[in-house]
Amino acid sequence: MKNPDFSKLARKNVRDLEPYQAKNIRCSVKLDANESPYAFVPPKKVMDKVARTALNRYPDPEAGKLKAAIARKIGVDTDALLVGNGSDELIYYLIISFGGPVLYPVPTFSMYGIIAQALGQRHKGIPLDRDFDLDVDKMADYIKKFKPKLIFLSSPNNPTGNCFSSDRILRIIDMADGIVVLDEAYQPFSSKKGFLPMLKDYKHLAILRTLSKIGLASLRVGYLAADNELLREVDKVRLPFNLNGLSQAVAEEALRGSSLHNLIKTVIAERKRLYEELLNIHGVRPYPSEANFILFKVHDADAVCKKLLGHGVLVRNMNTASKGALRVTVGTHEENGLFLRALKKTMGGK
Ligand SMILES: *Cc1c(COP(=O)(O)O)cnc(C)c1O
Repeated sequence: MKNPDFSKLARKNVRDLEPYQAKNIRCSVKLDANESPYAFVPPKKVMDKVARTALNRYPDPEAGKLKAAIARKIGVDTDALLVGNGSDELIYYLIISFGGPVLYPVPTFSMYGIIAQALGQRHKGIPLDRDFDLDVDKMADYIKKFKPKLIFLSSPNNPTGNCFSSDRILRIIDMADGIVVLDEAYQPFSSKKGFLPMLKDYKHLAILRTLSKIGLASLRVGYLAADNELLREVDKVRLPFNLNGLSQAVAEEALRGSSLHNLIKTVIAERKRLYEELLNIHGVRPYPSEANFILFKVHDADAVCKKLLGHGVLVRNMNTASKGALRVTVGTHEENGLFLRALKKTMGGK
C-alpha cells in the first residue's frame, strides 16, 4: 500500500494552518462559543411546514423565501442579499471572489485570517489601540501601501465586545479602494444602530449578519447585504445549493416571529448583571460589551481557564490573542450564577 505524507502533499499555505479549534469539550456550563443560551423552539405550524419539505428535491438555490423574510426584517431589497451556510461561508466566498491583500484589526474573529491563509492570499492584522478601537493611522499606512482588496471590521468586535467608533469606521470606508466588509454578527445586542442604512451611500460597503448568535447556530444561516453588482461577483463562486432546505424553512419562519427579539433583550439584561458582578471580583477586569459575551482579564488566564473547567464551566481562552484575556458568553441567569461562583472560588485561590 502506498503511504504518502499528506502534509507534504498539501499546498504550502494549507500545511502551515492549524484546524479551527471547534471541538466538543465536556462541561456542564458551556459559555465558550457565543451561542444563545435559549433554544428557539419552532412552533408546531413551522414544524408542520418543515415536515412537508421535499427531501428528495434540491432546495431553492436562491433561497427566495428566506431572502424575502430577511429583506422585510432589515429593510433592504432582496436583490441586495446573498445567503450563506453561516456567515463563515460568505467570508470564504468574498475572499475567493476578490482575493487579497485582506486587512483586519487584531484581535478579531480569526476566520478572516484563516480563510485568507487557506486560499493563499496575503493577509494582515493591525493591532487595535489601547481602547480596543481601530488604529486608523496604521491601517491608513497599510491601505496606501498595499491597497487591500478586502477590509474586514467586526463591530461589535469579537472577542473584545466593543463597537469601533463610527467616525473611524467611516474614515476607513472613505480611504479604502477595495471592499469594506462590516461584520455585524453581534449587532442585535448592541445599543448602536449598525451600518445597514449606509449601504445606499457606499457601493463598496458590504454588511455581514448571522442568525448563529441569536438562537439558531445549528441552522448555519448567514447573509451578506451589499450592492447587487458586488453580490453578482460573489454569487459566481457560490456552490449551487449552499443552504439546505430545512434551514431555509425554519429560518424563514423564525424571522417572521418576535421570539428571537425577546430572547435578545433577556441576554442584554443578563450581560449587565454579569458585567457588574465581574467588576466586584478581585483580580478580574471586565471590559464593557455591546455583544453577547464579555472579555475579561486576569493575571494567569491559562490557569484560570483550566480551574473553571475543573468546576465544569467552559469559557474561551483568549490569552494568545490578548494577554490575560478570557471570553465568557452570556448564559442563562442560572449559568451565569454558576460561572460567577466558580470564578470567585478560582480567584480566591480555593
Ligand atoms: C460567530 C461569528 C461569525 C460566524 O458566524 P456563522 O454565521 O455561524 O458562520 C462571523 N463573524 C463573527 C465576528 C463571529 O463572531
